[in-house]
Amino acid sequence: MYIVATPIGNLEDITLRAIRILKEVDIIAAEDTRNTLKLLNHLQIAKPMISYHRHNEEIKAEELIQKLLEGKKIALVSDAGTPIISDPGQEIVNKAIKQEIKVISIPGPCALITALVSSGIEAKEFIFLGFLPSNKKHRKEKLMQIEDQETTIILYEAPHKIKQTLEELEEFTKGRKMVLARELTKIHEEYKQGTAKELKENMKEPRGEYVIIIEKRAKTKKQEQIEKRNELSLKEHYQYYEKKGMNKKEIIKQIAKDRNVSKNEIYQEFMT
Ligand code: SAM
Repeated sequence: MYIVATPIGNLEDITLRAIRILKEVDIIAAEDTRNTLKLLNHLQIAKPMISYHRHNEEIKAEELIQKLLEGKKIALVSDAGTPIISDPGQEIVNKAIKQEIKVISIPGPCALITALVSSGIEAKEFIFLGFLPSNKKHRKEKLMQIEDQETTIILYEAPHKIKQTLEELEEFTKGRKMVLARELTKIHEEYKQGTAKELKENMKEPRGEYVIIIEKRAKTKKQEQIEKRNELSLKEHYQYYEKKGMNKKEIIKQIAKDRNVSKNEIYQEFMT
């Protein structure tokens, strides 16, 4: 089974390998067959298709696994980008792996990566949270996770919910910079930068799908100082406080606090 990434807007964004695989397989499993048909027509490929989506994935997974076990080659595609990423297909992949069917990924477009690399926001480390849950409690939990996050965060959002999401982000990101990327790879591709408040205020009629990239939470001065101190050797750490005129008892207490260990542990270190 091949997991094939397809364009997220611009039909030219498909790899030579993806085209070859789509031509070679026996069946294409598509999230929306009408949508995939447009791509296949553009590529002049005619293939039998089976539709699978979030609501029938379990039943369809069985059907697809059966065909794979009969020796058929199947390409799994979604409506846009990389299947499984905020898209259905996980169940089918898991079932295939259980049956020791080879699952091969054919890499290509993915909106989160496309947006991140040209957003100007630090990409060295990031977390992708997909769409925020609509369930109130789960949504609040995710927003709280965003509030504390010290790495870049990436979210997906639909046009009809973007304003509400920005409003909530305003409360949980407190003036952090973010980038809204929309219509990626399309004619009206656009990146807008600002705080959640600014982005919301300047937004006219929301159009197109959005990727939201949020800058990591800046460390407080205090956190930075503690981290710096913890990079010192224990002896250097001790000398640091000694120079500040603290006595032995106070120093041990403070080092234990900085390093989040017990006073006894630090005390033992100095005894050995
Ligand atoms: N599997 C896809 C991928 O690889 O990115 C994501 C599918 S998810 C159902 C759809 C969401 O992806 C949209 O709501 C939007 O957040 C994002 N997205 C997809 N295409 C996009 C594009 N051309 N521009 C901006 N965001 C896009």
